[in-house]
Formats: sequence, structure tokens, C-alpha cells
Amino acid sequence: MGYRGLIETFRRFLPVTEKTPVVSLLEGNTPLMPSGYLNSIVGTGFEVYFKFEGLNPTGSFKDRGMTLAVSKAKEAGAKIIMCASTGNTSASAAAYAAKAGLGCVVLIPEGAIALGKLAQALIHGAKVLALQGNFDEALSIVKEITARYPIVLVNSLNPHRLEGQKTAAFEICDTLEGAPDYQCIPVGNAGNITAYWKGYQEYKKQGLVSSLPKLLGFQAAGAAPIVNGRPIKKPKTIATAIRIGNPASWKQAEAARDESGGLIDSVTDKEIVDAYKLLASKEGIFVEPASAASVAGLLKLARKGYFHRTSQITNRKLKIVCILTGHGLKDPDRAIKIVHKPKIIKADLKAVLREIGY
Ligand SMILES: *Cc1c(COP(=O)(O)O)cnc(C)c1O
Repeated sequence: MGYRGLIETFRRFLPVTEKTPVVSLLEGNTPLMPSGYLNSIVGTGFEVYFKFEGLNPTGSFKDRGMTLAVSKAKEAGAKIIMCASTGNTSASAAAYAAKAGLGCVVLIPEGAIALGKLAQALIHGAKVLALQGNFDEALSIVKEITARYPIVLVNSLNPHRLEGQKTAAFEICDTLEGAPDYQCIPVGNAGNITAYWKGYQEYKKQGLVSSLPKLLGFQAAGAAPIVNGRPIKKPKTIATAIRIGNPASWKQAEAARDESGGLIDSVTDKEIVDAYKLLASKEGIFVEPASAASVAGLLKLARKGYFHRTSQITNRKLKIVCILTGHGLKDPDRAIKIVHKPKIIKADLKAVLREIGY
């Protein structure tokens, strides 16, 4: 039998027993792709890789946390799971609930969720409620309901989510045969950066790697509470997956930043869109806008000479991993908005040849 999903692969690092009913869509095991174009920008002495998490079953890294959260909910006898979501959590929760035979309720901010994600939550049969409010308001309602009623919260406040998500760090270390030197990652609710740091530290504690990466987190400039040092009432960015004004894992993200010797910075929507286009047109990788924040951040730091300044002289190339958190097909509207529409011509051989310059 081939790949069996991340719970089976990393069972000894996860809070599961033989009694845990494993609910899996064979998530994880995503490719670590060597960069071509970006490498040439960052310069010699560095190797850039993309961890393409958009290739998980529902198109984002949320599946890593959801396989464990839903398995544990099922083990505990839950009948319903619930989350607030900017989109990908709801898509993932809906799919895993379907597989597990559980009910699923999701609260989304009205009008602020990408089309693909909404389609996923609905087709998998979740009860989707569009709140006249933002993500932070939706999350506080979900917290209250799940505290009072027999419904399991599957936002990243659920510790099983982060336990599942930490496995991405394991995969990176296994593939590189060691930890990378730097990792660039988008930061929204800050669960993922927290999970990666946990994963890297556990691998080091087990003696499976000898070093740890510097974690470089990036928020969108209009939704950058950690960078600004205070919550943002009305977060704004086209990168809807990181449009969060008061991250649940704020303190843990700061700890990951400080303990790793990294940083958390912001990137503008323009920088995000530029990186989004560059990934698609120069690397052949289509991600959703929030995912491009990691590459926008890499480009910003490279421009400022950060990598050369902070790297030790070694006789090997330093490895930089960018986490590409979600697939571009999640948000087709964004792509369509920034490209030229196809030209309409006659169904005629000559007309086509003329257009392509013959
Ligand atoms: C959830 C999500 C993020 C943000 O992750 P956090 O754990 O909330 O910081 C980034 N990109 C995508 C595509 C996401 O779905």
C-alpha cells in the first residue's frame, strides 16, 4: 500500500492511539519544489524552495490540522463540528466532516470569502452562515457556542489542528535531510507559524535535525496587527485568507519569531499581487493571493539585503523555504481581475494565424 496520510506517517509524533478512528483524505506529502526564477533573484549562495500546500486534498494546508481535529472529534463521540473561517478552514472542515459522517457548521464573513472556498463548503454539505461582520467577530461567536453546546470547535484554537499542521515541518526536514536556514510564511490567525515552529523544535529534540530555521512571517499591510503591535478593527487586504485583525495565536507567533531569530513584517497588496503574478508566470505555480505573501516577503527582504546580512559564511548554499499555503483555483476572480481577457475572433484559420504573428 502507498501513502496513507499524515496521521499514519507521523503517528509517533501525534496524540493518537489504536482507538482513534483515523479520518483521512490522504493529506500531506506535498512537494517541495526547487525554484528556478526566484533563485536567480535572491542570488548565489542561496537555494529557494516552495512547499506547495495548495496540493492538499481541499487545496490548502488546513487539511493537515483537520485530519487530526476531526479524527479526535470523532473519537470523543462528537456529532457536529463548527468553525469560523475566511474560507479554507470551512472548505477543509466540510470535506472531513463529510468523510467522517459528522455535521458541520461554518460562519463566514459575508462577501469576504473567495468563490472556490464557498463552493467547497456548500458542495460538501456544511451549513454555511454568512455573518454581517468580519472573521474576528465570527470566531468569537463560534467560541461561545462551542463552549456551551456539544459541538467541537475546529478552528486553530483546537490544539489538534496545530499538532496536525506541524507535520509540514517534518516533511521539509525529511526532504532536505536537515532543517532549512530560513522559512517564509504568510501570517493570518498565526496558527501555522506556531505549528511549524513546534514541528521543527520537536524534530531537533528527537535528534532528527541539528539546527532550526529562522522563521520569517508576513502579514498584509492592511491586516498587520502583530507588526503594528495592536489589533486592527477593520482589517483590509485582497489576500482574504490573512484578513485577520486579532490573531488567536498572536503570542505564540511572537515566540516563534523571537526564539528562531526571525521576524514578522508586512507586505502591501501590490507586493502580494506582484509575487502572485510572478509565481504563476515565472515558476508555473498558481497560488491564492495570501500564499503569495511569503514570496512577496522574500522579495522584500532580498531587496533590503537581509539574507546576505544575516547569513553565516558556510561552504554550502543556504536554503530558504517559502510556504505556499493555498491553491490559486480557490480564488479565480482575483486572477481574472488582473489578466487580459481573451480576445474574441472569427472561427477561421487565417484569423488565428494573424493573431499569433504568422
Ligand atoms: C489559513 C491560511 C493562512 C493563514 O494561516 P494562519 O494559521 O491563520 O496564520 C494563509 N494562507 C492560506 C491560504 C490560508 O488558508
